[in-house]
Amino acid sequence: MNAPSRILAVANQKGGVAKTTTVASLGAALAEAGHRVLLVDLDPQACLTFSLGIDPEDLELSVHHVLTQGKAAADVLISTDDGVDLLPATIELARAEADLLTRTGREHVVRMMLEDVPDYDWVLLDCPPSLGVLTVAALTAADSVLIPLQCETLSHRGVGQLLDTVHDVRRYTNRALRVEGVLPTLYDGRTNHARTVLETISETYELDVIEPPIPKSIRFAEAPAAGRSILATTRKHRGAEAYRAVAENLVRRAAAR
Ligand code: ADP
Ligand code: MG
Repeated sequence: MNAPSRILAVANQKGGVAKTTTVASLGAALAEAGHRVLLVDLDPQACLTFSLGIDPEDLELSVHHVLTQGKAAADVLISTDDGVDLLPATIELARAEADLLTRTGREHVVRMMLEDVPDYDWVLLDCPPSLGVLTVAALTAADSVLIPLQCETLSHRGVGQLLDTVHDVRRYTNRALRVEGVLPTLYDGRTNHARTVLETISETYELDVIEPPIPKSIRFAEAPAAGRSILATTRKHRGAEAYRAVAENLVRRAAAR
């Protein structure tokens, strides 16, 4: 019997905090370490799908067909050059969000989709920049949620709202949901400011900080156009090394539970 998969939602309703980069990079790091990994693109912008070298426009089937039209997840699965499998998104997912609003059981659509995929060690869910139906459905399916955070003065204003949503999800649809912690991204360690903001956030909300912080680097911005994560294109890069260390950390934390 295989160990059950760990389902990690990567969420923050703020855009541009490196959710998608984190999913792609942690996915590549976990795959490098020998884990079987599934990534799920739940953002209608389909940036994760694109960054894995797949043009959403070429896809006939995508995650929204599974979530709203009863297609089998297995028919939508794609294996990628980064050694991970993907349930891809297209812009049609925006309509799924609207369609689901009036559906009974909408919170459970991602969970149900994942019941229907082959065995994986890790499933990473890339959430859209909102606290709408898709994010709630991701949190309902997840064992834990990782919150990428850019350590700027105002960056924590949304964290309280996200945690409110986590509490609602715990109450109504997924009692066991844990908050893994915050992952500092786009981190500029040269400033004391970033460190201070991070400490304030973790104290205010009593959240673990998942280390190490991911340094700010132009290489991350270049990677999606190459269709590969920076772990594949620049093996020794400090950003890639940081994600490898975070992946190890997450594996250790999961094993300790
Ligand atoms: P989100 O999914 O939260 O909207 P993305 O992962 O798409 O965020 O990242 C937003 C932008 O920041 C992208 O252009 C991405 O390439 C860039 N980026 C992500 N991580 C880093 C980093 N560590 N250093 C520099 N740029 C980054
Ligand atoms: Mg994104």
